[in-house]
Amino acid sequence: MSLIVAKELEKTYIAGDIKVHAIRGVDFTIAPASFVSFIGPSGSGKSTLLNMIGSLDPPTKGTLVVAGEEITSISRKEAARFRGEHIGFVFQDFNLIPVLTVAENVEYPLQMVQNWPKAKRRARVKEVLEAVGMSDQGPKFPSQISGGQKQRVAVARALVTNPKLVLADEPTANLDRETAGRIIDLMKKMRDEFSTTFVFSTHDPRIVENVEITFTLEDGKLLRDEKPMGGGHV
Ligand code: ADP
Repeated sequence: MSLIVAKELEKTYIAGDIKVHAIRGVDFTIAPASFVSFIGPSGSGKSTLLNMIGSLDPPTKGTLVVAGEEITSISRKEAARFRGEHIGFVFQDFNLIPVLTVAENVEYPLQMVQNWPKAKRRARVKEVLEAVGMSDQGPKFPSQISGGQKQRVAVARALVTNPKLVLADEPTANLDRETAGRIIDLMKKMRDEFSTTFVFSTHDPRIVENVEITFTLEDGKLLRDEKPMGGGHV
């Protein structure tokens, strides 16, 4: 069964008198445990698509089924529950909470979304920090670690609730090339270890070399040039 099925998906923003057709009817499926990137220039619709998949923003038309749930027109409350159960997010500017330590940042979703007891939370935080190679950095604050380390923490935070899907919008945009490559490798390793599907966006063609499947967006449409290289199915 596919993890994501999009059919004739459209998103139109209305800004004053102007309609912006950000996504103009796209169809795709993404299998569980895939490692996929949407690529395309700035303004091609990548963030819009990721936001719809993450149920942050509803489609204007079409249908979207993610993790077996029809999310096309669910309520805001249902969308929040859906995100808490199934989705982890990684952002381009890391979005760590500066007044919380690394360990507290990773623990945060467990407190907010899944009301786990303290001992179980701490054990899970230790496990994911180890998985991303940050086990000795738990007591530090975000200002005391590098950009690459911040993104490792963000990946740990996205994985801590054991979601089926991690959505990462331009996760390497604020990193140098070498660090960016390491973050992509880390996400792939996490996919292998936890069978979590990773879907991310990038406009950096150099990053795309390390991705198993790419969907190219141009002006809100998908070009039919996916690059399946094993591991996932399109
Ligand atoms: P990308 O992530 O590829 O840079 P986006 O999904 O951010 O592209 O944007 C796609 C198009 O939709 C762009 O033309 C952008 O200006 C427009 N857009 C995005 N968000 C909004 C919004 N909230 N209101 C109006 N237009 C928007």
